[in-house]
Amino acid sequence: MGRPGGGEGWNWPQVNNPPDLTGLCAPRMISRNRVQALEWVGMTNSEQIIMACCADIAGQVRGKGFPESDLPLRLQRGVGWTPTNVQITCFDVIADSPFGALGDLALVPDPAAAWVIHDPTGDPVEHVMLGDIRTLEGEPWSCCTRSILKTALQRLQDVAQLSTTVAFEHEFQVSGGLAGDSGSAYSLAGARSGAEMGRRIFRLMTRNGLRPDTFMKEFGADQFEVTMKPADGLAAADRAVILRELVRVAAREQGQRASFTPIRDPAGVGNGVHVHISLNDADGQPVTHDPDSETGLSAVAASFAAGITTFLPDILAMLAPSAISYLRLTPHRWSAAFNNLGLRDREASVRICPVTSLDPLAIARQFNLEVRACDAAASPYLQLAAIIHAGTEGIVRGLGAPRVTEADLSALAAEELAAMGIERLPTTLDAALQAFADAGVIGEWFGAEFRDVYLSHKRGELAVVQGLSPEEMCARYAAVY
Ligand code: GLU
Ligand code: MG
Repeated sequence: MGRPGGGEGWNWPQVNNPPDLTGLCAPRMISRNRVQALEWVGMTNSEQIIMACCADIAGQVRGKGFPESDLPLRLQRGVGWTPTNVQITCFDVIADSPFGALGDLALVPDPAAAWVIHDPTGDPVEHVMLGDIRTLEGEPWSCCTRSILKTALQRLQDVAQLSTTVAFEHEFQVSGGLAGDSGSAYSLAGARSGAEMGRRIFRLMTRNGLRPDTFMKEFGADQFEVTMKPADGLAAADRAVILRELVRVAAREQGQRASFTPIRDPAGVGNGVHVHISLNDADGQPVTHDPDSETGLSAVAASFAAGITTFLPDILAMLAPSAISYLRLTPHRWSAAFNNLGLRDREASVRICPVTSLDPLAIARQFNLEVRACDAAASPYLQLAAIIHAGTEGIVRGLGAPRVTEADLSALAAEELAAMGIERLPTTLDAALQAFADAGVIGEWFGAEFRDVYLSHKRGELAVVQGLSPEEMCARYAAVY
């Protein structure tokens, strides 16, 4: 085969001088020509492996590799995948599976959700594409987390002609010698101790099409936070999966280990994932804000927020899906303990975020809701899908704006909370799974097959840590996430 394509702006390199792959598969940047380029590169560079991966129920990235030269074929056909893989828990124990040893699926990589990591000589050493799991007939598989998110986004589009702008905010802790010192919270000294790691993270993000926003030394011991610029819902979830991997790589390059475990020490603060969401109309114009409303939320955004707070107890098992997530979701940890909407309140599970400009258009674009009850034991696809379905249900039902809370809700009696229409969120994974199982909407939004698989997966995970002390559980999860 000769060189593919020709023309169309491509300046083909010498055969003995393969093109630089830097950024080749940066999210949303690959073109047909680039695929052809890869095909051609593959002829001289066939030892390169591309991993086709999914981010599964366990929040783990799993997949299979293939030679780079096969990319055009694999973009069509995918790699073979086994249904029961969905029941591999975070502890590698396989939970009860309705599929047993039967069945076959295709995991089809999407070049729009890819990353490449190079070694110091510039050679690509890790090349991954996230993708969708399809049936052999090409249909989205009922338990494919990424397809589940696509379905949720489509539902919002269908019922309200709305799209989303989303950003995931991540906290993590490092072990192996960075800022453990007391007095380092939010400090320059703390940031300085993590500066080299931060630079590596920003570099890896930029090279892979993720736009860094902030990096800082967070409050907890060895805890840092990284945020990125928003993107459309699917791209934002792809990037959340990618970011977690890039942070791990950046820490490892320095001999450290980054952990996104929901909480490392039962007596400490947790590592949250905060999901920022705003809504856009069919023309892409922001519609979350209404300067004349009391909360600043537009009517449709208020219904969306009400959907999230109303169904939060039912979806919590998808947002905070580990046994130790519930050690984090307790009052006074700046996480989320009640299904409330708060204005600039870091104890609220849904927070109306501050805006920083006097320019009305900029305010409209900035205005967003932050869902704080999430952690990185979950697949970002499932987290966002659950939030979108709940918010969309709020729009479908025409729910009115939730009451905005200002008080310390943990100081109120249950009756006072009930009078405000607020409840304490489930306090264990077991209780959250029961709420998930009992809520009729879960089957409607996600299908009965996924619901049952999810329940049995999570119950299988719980069985592994049953009887362990909180400290022992935290150690088990910290080893995974
Ligand atoms: N660490 C807190 C959490 O678990 C969040 C602290 C903050 O950034 O407000 O969500
Ligand atoms: Mg934070």
